[in-house]
Amino acid sequence: MKDLVIIGSGPAGLSAAVYAYRGMLDVTVVEKQPFSGGQIVNTEQVDNYLGLCGINGFDMGMKFREHVDSFNVPFTEGEVIGIEQLADKKGFKLTLDDNDTIETKTVLIATGASHKKLGIEGENKFAGAGVSYCATCDGAFFKNKEVALVGGGDVALEDALYLSKICKKVYLIHRREGLRGAKVLQEKMKKTENIEFLPFYEIESINGENVVESLTIVNNKTKEKKELSVSGLFVAIGMEPHTDFAKGIVAMDDAGYIKASEDGITDTPGIFVAGDVRTKNLRQVVTAVSDGANGVYSILSYMEKEEI
Ligand code: NAP
Repeated sequence: MKDLVIIGSGPAGLSAAVYAYRGMLDVTVVEKQPFSGGQIVNTEQVDNYLGLCGINGFDMGMKFREHVDSFNVPFTEGEVIGIEQLADKKGFKLTLDDNDTIETKTVLIATGASHKKLGIEGENKFAGAGVSYCATCDGAFFKNKEVALVGGGDVALEDALYLSKICKKVYLIHRREGLRGAKVLQEKMKKTENIEFLPFYEIESINGENVVESLTIVNNKTKEKKELSVSGLFVAIGMEPHTDFAKGIVAMDDAGYIKASEDGITDTPGIFVAGDVRTKNLRQVVTAVSDGANGVYSILSYMEKEEI
């Protein structure tokens, strides 16, 4: 039986692996592919991680992985599809997609989340070349440019306000008039001169040669089409946490995020959570890495208390 199984090898999982090694735990990191690396590997440039300004996301993931590999932490390839508590309640049995099982005293879920996609023409082609899912990460690349943002929730409104301070103009495209985001953000948005709200619009296609040059948008009431000249499109239509395999075993909020504060302690003793898959306000590499450390600290305290 393992002391700890870390599920996921993004920044949260890899940071946890470093702390597990230092805590001398018998650990394995389960990852879907030989080098998962998390969402960061798809990011062109990271400018907000202390000490690594301007690093390419893939290189950053490699650096994190090399750090863990230097401690010879074992990895297990596979996808966890189920977690069951052992009959004596002193551990868990994890089932992988190839039907292999692993028994462990504790589990750290660090499976992350993905940004929802629009599923429209040009979205995949221009990912990292004008299409972004993170204003905080990529906004600075659009300084003094005209950009569009799609969505109507808190994230869209916060991002529109954030981008309005960097960009020349921000078009906020939303499929209806009513916004889901907080009233206070709506008021701020209305008062911000360089944000133009475009209600009842949907994006038909993202156009350009090598980078985003324009969007074709359609009014869903009048069916009127227009071309919007922009250098970037920020997509803020929600996230999907990767938690299907843990449903029924740990408490989650309505959107499927595992409920826990910074210490990573869930409502199921022995199961901990770290990174984007946890309920939190700021989903960034730096907060994921910090969660990994905090989670293992909680695990070590739990094992000591339970004497397991
Ligand atoms: P969200 O609240 O689910 O909003 C997603 C928005 O995207 C909605 O306005 C939705 O439109 C739109 N949308 C969804 N699919 C779309 C599609 N295919 N095409 C076009 N538009 C689409 O998501 P979120 O803004 O990411 O926020 C997630 C959660 O975090 C929320 O509970 C939010 O309150 C919370 N949050 C809180 C804070 C804070 O308290 N400071 C900050 C950020 C986030 P409809 O409205 O028409 O459905």
